[in-house]
Amino acid sequence: MRRAMAEADVGDDVFREDPTVRQLEERVADLLGKADAVFVPSGVMGNQIALRLHTQPGDEVVVPERSHVFHYEGGGPAALSGVQLRPIGDLSGIPTVEEVINVVRGAYDWEPRTTLLWLENTVNKAGGRVVPLPTIAALAEAARKHGLALHLDGARLWNAAVALGSTPAALAAAFDTVNVCLSKGLGAPIGSLLAGSREQMTQARRVRKLFGGGMRQVGVIAAAASIALDDFERDDYAMLRADHRRARAFADALDSCAGVRQVTPPDTNIVLFDTRDPAEQVIARLEAEGVRAVQFGPYTVRATFHRDVDDAALETALSALETALA
Ligand SMILES: *Cc1c(COP(=O)(O)O)cnc(C)c1O
Repeated sequence: MRRAMAEADVGDDVFREDPTVRQLEERVADLLGKADAVFVPSGVMGNQIALRLHTQPGDEVVVPERSHVFHYEGGGPAALSGVQLRPIGDLSGIPTVEEVINVVRGAYDWEPRTTLLWLENTVNKAGGRVVPLPTIAALAEAARKHGLALHLDGARLWNAAVALGSTPAALAAAFDTVNVCLSKGLGAPIGSLLAGSREQMTQARRVRKLFGGGMRQVGVIAAAASIALDDFERDDYAMLRADHRRARAFADALDSCAGVRQVTPPDTNIVLFDTRDPAEQVIARLEAEGVRAVQFGPYTVRATFHRDVDDAALETALSALETALA
């Protein structure tokens, strides 16, 4: 990736003159089955641009309670688009059709207008849970019937596609706009893309500029992001399939640790587990063994597998469990 960055063919992308960025945007639009895509510096920016595209101030957006946009985007929906979020659903991060229909409103002057249904796939805060196609189809049908637009936070859509034996395009088809990250499990240093129709992406470029995300010779970043995609597609998605296999092995080992109360069985590359000792202590003990994990609650830890965690690193992690969670 570093070499590709050094050698990247660049131009001023604010004038749409960066060939490396344009190539990446076209490639990702194709992969997602959309007409166009816009390169943005972060997943948060992609999501926040989408919110601005689909809403007016005062609107209400239906989101899974577990969603990234609700928990981890700094109150962006209120601050940047003047909308309120209506969180629904349980710890799975996958709402039911009934839960969606129950909260749609806007018939009366005193109600906010519900204008957008938001889904995440995979659901980070539910342990990388995949949302299967029939579920997406049912939710999308209900949303359309009530006049809602649909956005997908697909930061880890790649993982969902591989886990379901599907394609990013199939999983994105029901949505007006889709945000994907090349900087998570795919390992690019920087970069996300928002995809949708041509008209929406023309508007998205305006909003990106407004939010400060118009970048100049940004082909240096897009070049690295392209390699992340090459690696994703190589050998029948071997890279992500290996991540998922390692996550399962790690979860299996956790299952037999006395210091673990509960493990969420991983669908993809994320393992969430509840500990008997405070998560903070467990994380410190793991770190002392050379294994880093993230706190997701007072007694909840998240471990993530990605391209820089190979089988040797998995072995290190497994023996760290014996010390940290026996
Ligand atoms: C990481 C993440 C984002 C935001 O991406 P950044 O590049 O960190 O801004 C959005 N949604 C989900 C589900 C994520 O995991």
